[in-house]
Amino acid sequence: MADPVHNVIIIGSGPAGWTAAIYSARANLAPVVFEGAAPNIPGGQLMWTSDVENYPGFPEGIKGPEMMERFKKQAERFGTTVHAENVEKIDFTKRPFELTSESGQVHRARTLIIATGANAKLIGLPKEKELMNQGAGVSACATCDGAFYKGEELVVVGGGDSALEEALFLTRFASKVTLVHRRAEFRASKIMVDRIKAHPKIALALDAEVCDIVTEKKQVGPFEKDWLVGVKLKSTKDGSVRPLKAGGLFVAIGHAPNTSLFKGVLDMDDKGYLVTKGKTTRMNVEGVFACGDAQDSHYRQAVTAAGSGCAAAIDAERWLAEHG
Ligand code: NAP
Repeated sequence: MADPVHNVIIIGSGPAGWTAAIYSARANLAPVVFEGAAPNIPGGQLMWTSDVENYPGFPEGIKGPEMMERFKKQAERFGTTVHAENVEKIDFTKRPFELTSESGQVHRARTLIIATGANAKLIGLPKEKELMNQGAGVSACATCDGAFYKGEELVVVGGGDSALEEALFLTRFASKVTLVHRRAEFRASKIMVDRIKAHPKIALALDAEVCDIVTEKKQVGPFEKDWLVGVKLKSTKDGSVRPLKAGGLFVAIGHAPNTSLFKGVLDMDDKGYLVTKGKTTRMNVEGVFACGDAQDSHYRQAVTAAGSGCAAAIDAERWLAEHG
């Protein structure tokens, strides 16, 4: 028997991908999701988040990984098929599209929904990722984690609009925020720079980079965990190093969308974010739709990603109806 042609294949398993699956499954489209496999972690960036307190419907908050497990279960409940592997290649010239997965299997689909997400760039320090995964003092999202740092002295790294916005946001909770930037000039807009400079809670550490993380053991429930208590700052001018107390380190040095698979075929901006058409999730190739952080460098929230996943499923369903 010939391989079936799927109505919709969804690549990615963050809030956007699973929401697209839930909607297309409930529209009887029998979607197939490639949730990814190492080094791509199924579930996306929420797998690195501890408590999610800003997703509506969870008044007590929920752990990021648990939330993604629930999204997946909901998608499967309505008949989504899940493949725990990465997509290696897509032939966009064929109709139906042909996807080759890592195992070498070819899958065919009338429509594709791209929900491959983005990853926050990290500095690359020892323990940085480990502490972030454990919610132990390192974060790449002030909106997500800022409220856990009430009364703390915090450090934000970066000189773009994101870093300055995060620093300003964190002043709502922190006793002090030190903004560390590797140069003396900011990449951020002037208005943000003016606000930062005028803010009484924000101190600047310019021509400096965080070269090390300082931790102490902390008792968390029954476990003893490494927890961030400070950083070391290195001058980019003379190489001198000084310690700085910090209850939290927020890294805001940009994000990178996971879109290399689509280079040269799908429209992207100069940073690699997919460019959709107008207010839709349609891409430049007919029958291809994009949602979530792979096409959004602006909001980057779980709830906005989920919303765009819903939109992609509706766009794909309408496209299938239009094309018989
Ligand atoms: P960005 O503009 O690329 O800035 C990244 C910053 O991180 C730069 O200052 C860069 O330093 C620094 N950096 C990069 N790698 C580093 C490293 N390894 N160690 C230390 N510092 C490092 O990224 P973004 O701030 O996320 O902004 C992305 C886009 O979204 C921009 O176009 C921005 O304007 C936009 N945005 C807009 C708003 C808004 O309008 N409200 C808010 C957020 C973001 P250098 O400057 O030395 O390269």
